[in-house]
Amino acid sequence: MDDCIFCKIAAGEVPAKTILREVDVIAIEDLNPQAPSHALVIPVSHHATIADLTRAEPALAARLIAVAAQLGADRGGAQGFRLVVNTGELGGQTVGHVHVHVLAGRQMSWPPG
Ligand code: AMP
Ligand code: ZN
Repeated sequence: MDDCIFCKIAAGEVPAKTILREVDVIAIEDLNPQAPSHALVIPVSHHATIADLTRAEPALAARLIAVAAQLGADRGGAQGFRLVVNTGELGGQTVGHVHVHVLAGRQMSWPPG
């Protein structure tokens, strides 16, 4: 997608603090961290939402979650972590390229805001 910030980061056209770069998935540090550790796991191919990705490329959706869970385990250790996929307007999604937030390093609250 021409005007998508995460497509541009995945293509290396916009800089980001890259944690992991593979053929199909990247992980970066969130620009505006909401926890001591806040990473984003992003598929290289453009899909607006987790529902779109799951319909179009179910194996990639599974991989996205697997990479996010491994990163959460690496960063949160025995204390734990949280994965978040904001979806659509009511879900609070602000970037229209699916991504998994990996939050760790503080006590999370429930219900989410
Ligand atoms: P969401 O609101 O769930 O769509 O999440 C979008 C996330 O992307 C927010 O946490 C932003 O801080 C983050 N973000 C936006 N632009 C960038 C960027 N250029 N590099 C890293 N993170 C970004
Ligand atoms: Zn995109």
